Amino acid sequence: MQKTIALVAHDHKKPDLVAWALQHKSELSKHRLVATGTTGGLIAKQLSLDVHCFKSGPLGGDQQIGALIAENKLDCLVFFWDPLNPAPHDPDVKALLRLCSVWNVPVACNISTADMLITSPLFFDGRYQRHLPSF
Ligand code: PGA
Repeated sequence: MQKTIALVAHDHKKPDLVAWALQHKSELSKHRLVATGTTGGLIAKQLSLDVHCFKSGPLGGDQQIGALIAENKLDCLVFFWDPLNPAPHDPDVKALLRLCSVWNVPVACNISTADMLITSPLFFDGRYQRHLPSF
């Protein structure tokens, strides 16, 4: 069952995300991948996979992924944000994480959670029906 997965990593976390994506390339290759600009370019190059690249995060890419969430067009987000360095677009980062909570979108912010998400049969075999809040 094909899902739309968004991939985002802050600069110091990009090597972790690329390594994680390489490790899970066979699963990721079954799905539609979207990403912020720089992250998406790296993943596409390293994995030789199609990735729809939005604008770079600080230039609005986080908000474009947030718009997918608001339109119920995103199934999960892998977002390796950097807890040790300030980001100029911190309000956008917060907004993206907030929308995941608002719309009950699975979000992994570190390697171990991302490992569990991408290997979860519940999520990827179509049995799990995500509750979509009604407001
Ligand atoms: P980038 O954006 O992939 O374009 O670097 C990520 C971010 O900083 O949110």
